[in-house]
Amino acid sequence: MTGARLIDGKAIAVAVRGEVARTVAELRGNGVVPGLAVVLVGEDPASEVYVRNKDRAAREAGFEVRTLRLPGDVGQSELLDTVQMLNADAGVNGILVQLPLPPGLDEAAVVDAIDPAKDVDGLHPVNVARLVTGRPGMVPCTPAGCIELLDRSDVELEGAHAVVIGRSQLVGRPLASLLLARNATVTTCHSRTRDLPDVCRQADVLIAAVGRLRFVQGDWVRPGAAVIDVGINRTEAGKLAGDVDFEAARRVAGAITPVPGGVGPMTIAMLLKNTARAAGEV
Ligand code: NAP
Repeated sequence: MTGARLIDGKAIAVAVRGEVARTVAELRGNGVVPGLAVVLVGEDPASEVYVRNKDRAAREAGFEVRTLRLPGDVGQSELLDTVQMLNADAGVNGILVQLPLPPGLDEAAVVDAIDPAKDVDGLHPVNVARLVTGRPGMVPCTPAGCIELLDRSDVELEGAHAVVIGRSQLVGRPLASLLLARNATVTTCHSRTRDLPDVCRQADVLIAAVGRLRFVQGDWVRPGAAVIDVGINRTEAGKLAGDVDFEAARRVAGAITPVPGGVGPMTIAMLLKNTARAAGEV
């Protein structure tokens, strides 16, 4: 049976992390000790896992990591003071506030308080504006990871029709800007898009960031297309699965990411890459 080439996000993430570790070693050799601060508010179990993984990966790459844990009932002003303290700390090159914040806290105000040069999540409005206007800045990690996967799998973006399903601030919108910057012809789809399957069938590169289990059917995929599945969903059996019907799509696609083991591992790898970049520009 013919089938799509698997885009191995695990292997590509290992390669990126290795490159970052070499950059960090060089920085240290030049007397710069790159530092990442992770702020976790409350005790959300999923956030705990994400923060632990980021902390470990950053240490492995040679960063100095400081994880600050604040109680779920922390006041807005205390949280903002913490961010300001990290902004002022020359040993901290990257600041990551794990989202979502507990109810009652103003997430936008906290993101806005982060020094854009240390905003390794790429969510500060200054970095969003830089991305949209095509200027260099910090790029959100998951969309950056999607582009890295495509590049390292030799998928041509220039002139290609890229269809992105999803328009979130975190994934869909920045991804569309990144693809446009690479001279793809970009279509952004969302819940009000008409004839979605037909639009998807026109894609040379199809990216799903919806959050619905097996939403993209095999016959939505143009033969030979590259398919990037950002979705993380649980199956009825409790396993992780993406937004794309993987088994059906892999028979048609030219290349495809699995879930797990596709986009997921890239998010942390790109966070480390952003932090190394922030440290290198000090
Ligand atoms: P989100 O904020 O919920 O956005 C989902 C997008 O999908 C929205 O733009 C929504 O359209 C669109 N959508 C929903 N139903 C649709 C439909 N029936 N037809 C077409 N579009 C539809 O989610 P997100 O933060 O972008 O995340 C998307 C998925 O990626 C989730 O599964 C999330 O867990 C996963 N994710 C993975 C990583 C990773 O590291 N791999 C990182 C971040 C997110 P409207 O705007 O019209 O509502």
